[in-house]
Amino acid sequence: MSETRIYLDNAATTAISDNVLEAMMPWLKEGYGNASSVYSLGRKSAIALNKARAQCAEILGCDSRDIFFTSGGTESDNHAVFSAAEAALAKGKRHIITSAFEHHAILEPLKVLKKQGFSVTYLPVHENGVVRVSDFEAAATDDTGFVTVMAANNEIGTVQPIAEIGGICRERGITFHTDAVQAFGNIPINVREQNVDMLSLSGHKIHAMKGVGLLYVREPASLRPFIRGGAQQSGKRAGTENIAGIAGLAEAMRAAAENISEKNGKLLPMREKLIAELSKISGARLNGDREKRLASNVNFSFCGIEGEALILRLDLLGIAVSSGSACTSGSLDPSHVLTALGLTKDEARSSVRITMSDLTTEAEIDELIRVLPGEIEKLRALIG
Ligand SMILES: *Cc1c(COP(=O)(O)O)cnc(C)c1O
Repeated sequence: MSETRIYLDNAATTAISDNVLEAMMPWLKEGYGNASSVYSLGRKSAIALNKARAQCAEILGCDSRDIFFTSGGTESDNHAVFSAAEAALAKGKRHIITSAFEHHAILEPLKVLKKQGFSVTYLPVHENGVVRVSDFEAAATDDTGFVTVMAANNEIGTVQPIAEIGGICRERGITFHTDAVQAFGNIPINVREQNVDMLSLSGHKIHAMKGVGLLYVREPASLRPFIRGGAQQSGKRAGTENIAGIAGLAEAMRAAAENISEKNGKLLPMREKLIAELSKISGARLNGDREKRLASNVNFSFCGIEGEALILRLDLLGIAVSSGSACTSGSLDPSHVLTALGLTKDEARSSVRITMSDLTTEAEIDELIRVLPGEIEKLRALIG
């Protein structure tokens, strides 16, 4: 196997940063106490847990008691959906609004709810991959109890009008959840200013470890217990807390939130260069809005090729990119995100996603620009 030298799949996962590892180490080594224990080793862990919770809350613009640590984005999304649906049903509401291109961690739980009698409206994302507030307003009824729309899409990086949707939901007494796993650290997120009632985050997308994330809930009393057992996390999410992972998450969030403008200042010209150069390849088409997209994301379809085949060729050169989302790679299903934009199945299968992090260098982008046209040509020659 060749070694990956150039990592451009940061929407799939990121490397743990030095500052995060440093924040985690004490709790992996000498500070191993159980945060529920009364002696000092345990109390130290409890103090670290409370400190991390307060830090995450301050960054998001909420109270400490609104934060529940989870095993990641998927768990947070599942619990947000099931818990909010249950709360909606208690108010006699059975209608849910979402977008057509949410992550599977939202879409699969919604499928279960549909079987249970909820009706779900999937807002169109149009050709540019952005939900329209007017479509949302037209879809909302007195029966709507819950809305979940992602803050930024994981495949094409398009940024959604969550503050506007949140504002309307707040006026109408509808619970609003957003999956901010991709958006956080790339655009400003503040649940108070953006009228968000529930929000999901994942550690490993922002340079913390895999297996840790959080769910913010504005009205934690309305949350049903999602893992039952001990009294940890107000009894809502039982289980001994992952102190090292949580301390790392809090540090990752601090760094990510503080670095937004510096990171965008660096990545935006790199994104623009990539788009300009890759657009020159014949049969190339940028997927997702040209402007309303994260500075870290570029997604192209290259007419006539298989995205998967291109990825394997780039891998041989030590370059890691992806086609569609990592979760669906390996299956032949075209990306539901790209088909939601109106792409045909073949166009969707010909896509490549390039996602940068603050560790990405301009030299790496230049190398990709240098080798990509030739690799595409070779693939097209094979197809004839
Ligand atoms: C990665 C991702 C998730 C899932 O997060 P995990 O921590 O990997 O479970 C959910 N939503 C979006 C938008 C993602 O990109």
